[in-house]
Amino acid sequence: MFAWRLLSGAITVRSAISKHIPNTPSECPLCGFSNATIDHLFIHCTIALSLPFASPLDYRVQRTTLTIQELFSEWLNDPLGMKKFCFGSTLLWCLWKARNDVIFRYKDINPAQIISVATNLNCDFLYPLAGFEDPSVPLFKTPATMVTTSWSPPPSGFINSVFGCRIHVSQGINESLEI
Ligand SMILES: [Zn+2]
Repeated sequence: MFAWRLLSGAITVRSAISKHIPNTPSECPLCGFSNATIDHLFIHCTIALSLPFASPLDYRVQRTTLTIQELFSEWLNDPLGMKKFCFGSTLLWCLWKARNDVIFRYKDINPAQIISVATNLNCDFLYPLAGFEDPSVPLFKTPATMVTTSWSPPPSGFINSVFGCRIHVSQGINESLEI
């Protein structure tokens, strides 16, 4: 249903509202771009660009002129067609809800949370309906493991370098450590 609304332009993005209601701001509420069209909000906005690439969809937008119709067509023509289309549509719906939260509830946008919600919705509802395989199986790829880093102060007389070692202030490089 949401995909149909996107494809038919039945979604109240600011650029559409401003055509009918004078003095309505037309800029994107997420990045401030001056013309918040459907293609901008759901494909080319900086937030929208990051979502399909950082999500299990692993999709990178290649053209700055890509339209929502072409985007759905690309997903449907992929070997994983319906699976990608379902996940992608869910992701865009979650982006729309997050955009509404920014405008109406003054919340910050959180791409990681959008991806997480879309992934959970996909597993909870779309997999059983579409007869996909076990939802515990990763959708398209194993999500990248989050690399955690930590910092600890060097012992007295040493300074940390950016090259992964500690340097004694009077004796030079002294040890190679994970810092
Ligand atoms: Zn934007």
